[in-house]
Amino acid sequence: MENDRSAGPHFLVVSFYLQGHITPSLFLAKRLAGVAGVRVTFSTAVTSHRLIFPAAPAAGDDPVSYIPYSDGFDDKHDPDKYARGDYYYDRLNADAAKSLSAIVGDLAAAGRPVNCVIYSCFSTWAAVVARKHGIQSVPLWTQPATAFAAYWHFFHGLESLVSANAGDRYFSVRFPGMPPLQICDLPSLLTVSKEDDWACHLGPLRDMCAIMDSFDKKPKILINTSTEMEPHAISSVSNMVDVYAIGPMLTEPAATAAATLFDLDDKDYLQWLDTQPDDSVVYISFGSMRVLNKLEVEQIARGLKDTGRPYLWVLRRDSGSPDVESPPTVAAEAEGKRLGMVVEWCDQVRVLEHRAVGCFVTHCGWNSTTEALAVGGVRMVGAPMWMDQATNAWLMEKDWGIGVRAEVDRGGMLMAGELRRCVDEVMGSEEMGSKARQWKETLGRAAAEGRVKQRIMEFVKDISSD
Ligand code: UDP
Repeated sequence: MENDRSAGPHFLVVSFYLQGHITPSLFLAKRLAGVAGVRVTFSTAVTSHRLIFPAAPAAGDDPVSYIPYSDGFDDKHDPDKYARGDYYYDRLNADAAKSLSAIVGDLAAAGRPVNCVIYSCFSTWAAVVARKHGIQSVPLWTQPATAFAAYWHFFHGLESLVSANAGDRYFSVRFPGMPPLQICDLPSLLTVSKEDDWACHLGPLRDMCAIMDSFDKKPKILINTSTEMEPHAISSVSNMVDVYAIGPMLTEPAATAAATLFDLDDKDYLQWLDTQPDDSVVYISFGSMRVLNKLEVEQIARGLKDTGRPYLWVLRRDSGSPDVESPPTVAAEAEGKRLGMVVEWCDQVRVLEHRAVGCFVTHCGWNSTTEALAVGGVRMVGAPMWMDQATNAWLMEKDWGIGVRAEVDRGGMLMAGELRRCVDEVMGSEEMGSKARQWKETLGRAAAEGRVKQRIMEFVKDISSD
């Protein structure tokens, strides 16, 4: 039967331009569009839109419509300007807000008015646009509930306690209803010095909580987590916020590959994995943003070699600078000596679920962490640097018991000896291996899919009756 998409609400899903936001935002957009009567428009920055859709999106089977917004960097993002204080947020608050406002207006004029704007975290400017148009907004939190709860309590009474002790790594903070977290386990924005360039990222989160507080009704938030993964954090805020735990969002490998900002390496790394023994390979990737310097590339190459285990390493071309030849050189050495394989970008979900992968050395981005837990069922070595990564490492090591957090310096630098020590520890731990397999069983894709679908249906029903 034809799905009459004018019968239910129209969601406008707005994503930050980064891969770690696009993956869960697109996942949600597709699942929302699977609910009868629902219309969905997906919007990310023009630069990212063009990378996902080098040609115009094909009309037809895809139930989601795509309309990009302009953030003032349509030709190319400039990471230096982005890193410089408030510069990018100024562009978002001005250019992107104007562009999104026009999109909302055009959709209304075309007889498809938006009923709810869903925005990935840090895109609070989109909630401001929604408010101007008299439309409700709901954040899509792409980090763990534990990080959200920490921010929420920080902005609701605990700011001075945390700030006064920010310099003491081991100072223990007790957020209501949660296990104690040390300063070094908190999202880095809560303890970063106000003079630091990165401190500007706290502003949009403070504004997000303020906007949520300003609603007449109890605010809602969608979080890529589940009650099994983070029961304490969810219940710690649930008297103030309606949490829709719609995770783990486990995208099918083909869908992940289709929505990637990077070209998949054409080396046959999956066939290479097929030739390796079960549970033997060290998979190492630091996600889409982290750029390794030359020394770090050398240290990792040495540490991996010293483990004596086969490895698959995602080393993006922008790493190793200023020696841009670094990744190819490292790859040639690894592959020449048959130590392992080095690729520029892979289908990570497919790699993590491969029987040969025994452990994942990761920067602990939330997408990577949930994929490892629920699709991979693999042990982890965490090398967190900033944002929510330390909190994700805390969950992985202390709460779920499936890995260890490596000692890294303030820049996240992982030295060869520490890499080897951690890999040896996790690969030698039958207990971590068995816990990791149990998590995969509990949260596996099929199991998660039913729960996620149910939670998304509840969310649509609640929005429809608001
Ligand atoms: N990813 C991928 N191929 C790679 C490396 C990463 O598809 O070679 C994907 C990974 O599956 C995850 C995302 O990129 O979904 C990275 O998101 P995460 O939150 O882990 O880290 P970020 O890139 O935001 O730092």
